[in-house]
Amino acid sequence: MNNNYQVLARKYRPHTFKELVGQVHTVKTLINALDANSLHHGFLFTGTRGVGKTTIARIFAKSINCESGVSSIPCGKCSTCIEIDSGQSVDLIELDAASHTGVDNMRDILENAQYMPTKNRYKIYLIDEVHMLSKSSFNALLKTLEEPPEHIKFLLATTDPGKLPITVLSRCLQFNLQKLTDKEILGQLKYIMKAESLDYEEDALSQIASFGEGSMRDALSLLDQSISYGKGSVLVKDIKAMLGLVSHDDIIELATHLFDQEPQKVIKFIRKLSHRGDNLTNALHDLSSLFHTISIAKTISSDTIDKRITKLSSQISNQDLQIFYQMSINGTKDMPLAPSEQIGLEMTLLRMLAFRSDSAPVNEKKKIKINDEIRSDISQDLSKD
Ligand SMILES: [Zn+2]
Repeated sequence: MNNNYQVLARKYRPHTFKELVGQVHTVKTLINALDANSLHHGFLFTGTRGVGKTTIARIFAKSINCESGVSSIPCGKCSTCIEIDSGQSVDLIELDAASHTGVDNMRDILENAQYMPTKNRYKIYLIDEVHMLSKSSFNALLKTLEEPPEHIKFLLATTDPGKLPITVLSRCLQFNLQKLTDKEILGQLKYIMKAESLDYEEDALSQIASFGEGSMRDALSLLDQSISYGKGSVLVKDIKAMLGLVSHDDIIELATHLFDQEPQKVIKFIRKLSHRGDNLTNALHDLSSLFHTISIAKTISSDTIDKRITKLSSQISNQDLQIFYQMSINGTKDMPLAPSEQIGLEMTLLRMLAFRSDSAPVNEKKKIKINDEIRSDISQDLSKD
């Protein structure tokens, strides 16, 4: 890898609404507003990290300040478009409230809003993580939002809109950006791998996409990491090794020991995974997914279901599956608090084993009782004849 290597998230940051992945509703609304040139003065973009909040805001900034006029398709060639793309536009003031909390010049910057833009149509404030502004900065922001001068636009972004004062919320058009789907992320990963002329296995990219959990930025940084790990190619075996992923076969084996109620085998198996350096938090996560797959297999019969899943589904009741699922989700949540991943996983599985061994005899009794009732019903029916 050469020294000029640019991280993929930066290199492939979309510069137009057309290049943007996902967020169709938000983009459609913005495009309509831009093409009709009916622009509100305050926009608030909310959503988790890496879903495109500041990217959309920057494209929007170009759209309203492009020297060829306000439109949803900025030219990308004028000095303003180029300056915005390279983060050097004088009239696009980008502030990251997360890294400037309590700094007084933030308030000064906001108080300067009344002055005219230096060269462009609008003076645009792009404030990321706006919920973290200091109190005095918030007051300065509110003052301008209440009586906005014609030449001002506010583009606010936050991962936590619940922390924003209602006075700010009520003065902005709000756009809730969705997490990206695995499919949307996968499409972009493939596009990038092709553009970079690098080798990849589709399954490897799928795994990266799902690890991104809806965040394009997270997926792309994982892709960066994988490319460097695989010396230019992205393969399933490398992803597994890099992330310490437990294979699907191993997850099925773990579930088999659990359903067979073999505590010793369960513990021994977990220790084997741990010794191998596997990612046990992820193993628990995959176990939750397996419980879901088994539940579906119990509910919907299909020929395409893996035989091992069918076998597992015959060994457990729907109720127990629901409880195991809940336990595995809670176990994943508690994992950061566990003394180690191995202990966290062992305790969660032991909880499941304890639950089953306690409840199984009760279920058996119930079953027998029901059988007896049915039997007596049948015998009564028979005696009537
Ligand atoms: Zn332009």
